[in-house]
Amino acid sequence: MEKTFYLEYLEIIRDFKNYLEKRMGRKPSANNKALLLEKFYEEIKNCQKCSLYRTRTNLVFGEGNPEAILMFVGEAPGKEEDLQGRPFVGAAGKLLRETIKNLGIPEDKFYIANILKCRPPGNRNPRPEEIARCLPYLKKQIQIINPKIICTLGKFSTQNLLNTTRGITYLRGQKFTLPNNTILLPTLHPAACIYKPYWREQFIMDLKMVKEEIDKITKT
Ligand code: SF4
Repeated sequence: MEKTFYLEYLEIIRDFKNYLEKRMGRKPSANNKALLLEKFYEEIKNCQKCSLYRTRTNLVFGEGNPEAILMFVGEAPGKEEDLQGRPFVGAAGKLLRETIKNLGIPEDKFYIANILKCRPPGNRNPRPEEIARCLPYLKKQIQIINPKIICTLGKFSTQNLLNTTRGITYLRGQKFTLPNNTILLPTLHPAACIYKPYWREQFIMDLKMVKEEIDKITKT
């Protein structure tokens, strides 16, 4: 109830701001992405579109800066993520967040989400029917945030966003441009790199590419 009131309040403020800007001859502000994401979360937070809702503790929506130029897209919540309701907070998340930090990518530059919002039991791979039901949610998040760069983490997010069946070890390290000009840079899933030093090196190299693309964009 309180949350609904808060969202309505934010909408009134936004409309009033747009009205004032119009009166002053300025273009209305872009949509408030934080508000749109909040509203979208409210819409899907009780989703039961696939059987994963039965075993989840929390639906893991995503987190970060809604105005971010970079979006990381992973696979699905793991045990820790399911418990906390936050993406990438387990061991794989630690590796990802440390690498991002070491490369000098500030927290306010990115948003993180997964293809599946609910944890597959035992961390098994996502099933095609689960991806088919959940992928529209991720696409909507991408549409709202409209990042300039997407870094896909692992096979499932990469293949589904690029619409390909090529393997991640082939796709990683390459730069793709989506039809709307968003740059997509695939890399390995950090969970796969924890105990494999060679893959970890590749993962770090790929994230360096991400940093270079950010630098290019922010310097122009
Ligand atoms: S995984 Fe996605 S589609 Fe399935 S219940 Fe969770 S939010 Fe809904």
